[in-house]
Order: sequence, then structure tokens, then C-alpha cells
Amino acid sequence: MQNAKKLYYGEKITVTFQPEKCIHSGVCVKGFPSVFNLSKRPWVDPDAATAEAIARHIDKCPSGALEYEHVDGKSDKKEGA
Ligand code: SF4
Repeated sequence: MQNAKKLYYGEKITVTFQPEKCIHSGVCVKGFPSVFNLSKRPWVDPDAATAEAIARHIDKCPSGALEYEHVDGKSDKKEGA
């Protein structure tokens, strides 16, 4: 099974993105353009806001394409997936 998960490393949070899951709702880019900006490379800047604010916004992603892991280990997911 293909897993093209992309990782964006911030100081406090790592944002992961699975393009094949994205339904292009625009929730991320419209709701939080300082962090999610398609005109920038990389398009995700995990240090442009607090980890908490980014995590709250990622929770709104309707497809599950965006996920996050806290760098301090408070992740509910296994690493290396
Ligand atoms: S919020 Fe999720 S589904 Fe919508 S564009 Fe962003 S990544 Fe894709």
C-alpha cells in the first residue's frame, strides 16, 4: 500500500500531510493562511503559530489528510508510520 505521507517539522509540532487523502476543501489554507499557504514552499510552516493552535486547526481537516504529532512526545500515534 502506498503511503506518500509528507512531514513538516516544526520546533514543537510535526505536521503530516497525505495528499491522496486531501479532498481540497480549503479548510486549512483559508482558515490559517499563516501556516498553510500554497504559494510558499514548503506550503506548511509549523512554526508560524503555536503548536496548540495548529493542532486545533488540523482537527478541522475534513479528510484526515492533515495530522500532527507533538515533538515533546505527546503523540497518540506510533512514530515511523
Ligand atoms: S483541510 Fe484537509 S482536506 Fe481540506 S485542503 Fe486542507 S488538507 Fe485538504
